[in-house]
Amino acid sequence: MKLVVGHLFPDYLNIYADRGNIAVLARRAAWRGHELEVRPLGAGGALSQGEHDLFYIGGGQDREQELIAPALAALGDGLRASVAKGAALLAVCGGYQLLGRSYRDQSGEELPGVGLLPLHTVAGERRMIGDVLLECELEPGRRRTLAGFENHAGRTYLDEGAEPLGRVLAGFGNDGASGYEGCRVGRAIGTYLHGPLLPRNSWLADWLLAQAIAHRTGEAPALEPLEDDLEAEAHEVSAARARSRGGRY
Ligand code: GLN
Repeated sequence: MKLVVGHLFPDYLNIYADRGNIAVLARRAAWRGHELEVRPLGAGGALSQGEHDLFYIGGGQDREQELIAPALAALGDGLRASVAKGAALLAVCGGYQLLGRSYRDQSGEELPGVGLLPLHTVAGERRMIGDVLLECELEPGRRRTLAGFENHAGRTYLDEGAEPLGRVLAGFGNDGASGYEGCRVGRAIGTYLHGPLLPRNSWLADWLLAQAIAHRTGEAPALEPLEDDLEAEAHEVSAARARSRGGRY
């Protein structure tokens, strides 16, 4: 099967080589006999309904966010409609912030968001930096850990009743106080974790691939397991670093 990925503003939002997440998705898809076609989506781009099975947006600093925020918000209707119709999405750090309603940056400027995720973000004084470990339950009864790295000044506040991506076991998470990280709306996920995220969390890469396939077929398949020894080791190293950092603050 050919899966189409819409990569939003790849030239602006690619901090910490977040683009590596796409390489992981492409490889893991190919190992299962699927092809991933990545189409960049930028300013003035048009979204035709049903075209994209998955969207991806990486991280960036305030400067890059400021440059692209209005053009990204202009794609908002199309993005919200696509996700409502079952497209999957992964948004990382700066991209995560901009998929909420708004981001008030360090200089006090209020950047418009896409309004796809039920949250808003306000930049604080102190940056929240370091390894993070989360516990997620994307499928009922199936708890898994997610390891990554965070570096953000933004504090993200989820709306009442919004679903976080996971519970913080170590690190700061959304705002350094709630004990939660990221946000999930159906097949869409936003997170502060990068570094990049998917090479050390292969289960999440497969979850996203299965959701992208479900957009096409109506059902998330059980993907054939891969030999993930190196990936598991990378996860463990990262998780151990986060654990040694200790509690949340
Ligand atoms: N500019 C944002 C912040 O610092 C996002 C940074 C990032 O993507 N690493 O909060």
